[in-house]
Amino acid sequence: MFDLHMHTVWSDGTNTAEEMVQEAIRKGLETVGISDHSSGDPCGMTLEQSADYRAEIARLKEKYAGQIRVLCGLERDYFTDDFADYDYTIGSVHWLAMPDGHRVPVDYMAEKLREGADRYFGGDFYALAEAYYAMMAKVVEVTKCDIIGHFDLITKFIEQDPAFDTNHPRYVKAWQKAADELLKTGKPFEVNTGAISRGYRTAPYPAKEIRDYIRAHGGKLIMSSDAHAKENIAFRFDEWEGK
Ligand SMILES: [Zn+2]
Ligand SMILES: [Zn+2]
Repeated sequence: MFDLHMHTVWSDGTNTAEEMVQEAIRKGLETVGISDHSSGDPCGMTLEQSADYRAEIARLKEKYAGQIRVLCGLERDYFTDDFADYDYTIGSVHWLAMPDGHRVPVDYMAEKLREGADRYFGGDFYALAEAYYAMMAKVVEVTKCDIIGHFDLITKFIEQDPAFDTNHPRYVKAWQKAADELLKTGKPFEVNTGAISRGYRTAPYPAKEIRDYIRAHGGKLIMSSDAHAKENIAFRFDEWEGK
């Protein structure tokens, strides 16, 4: 049992890395991976901070050896410049870069996403989704990640604010194109329960039809919690594993 996606006070989490490790031991995990946000993300670590972060995780690795395997990961934002050595990295698209230098946040607020669609895509959410998945298609190439992070993050607010239809042919075509590109890399996609634990969603990323598509095309899926607090480590893995 392992959980490789979680945040601590090194970025936007509420617990220290040591508290996360102790809780993972209490929950009976064999491996725990800390994966704080990288540079390129507003709540991410600077290159200087991430050097200290790696030293701290190395300390925990040694201190808790024999009780749990601790890995030093990084959630590498699409726009990061942190390509230091980590045990593994998760590649994520959190922002769309606009030609005027503006960035449209994908997972910050439903209003910001709508605003971005209005301002840059003439109110066409499918055009925004196409831009998002065009970046997602390159996330392994750009971030050199080992795990593909929250593939359809763009649906974070869809249960409260159904801004678009996930069955629309343009939407389906956009994600399938990205999935096809990423499947060629052989990297696993995470099944991320983070939006459930934080109250935005009732199901994990990616959506059921995407999980089925990935499986049908020989792709790998791994569970992750994206926990920002220790109580959410391995959140509802038993419920969603293999679904
Ligand atoms: Zn993320
Ligand atoms: Zn995360």
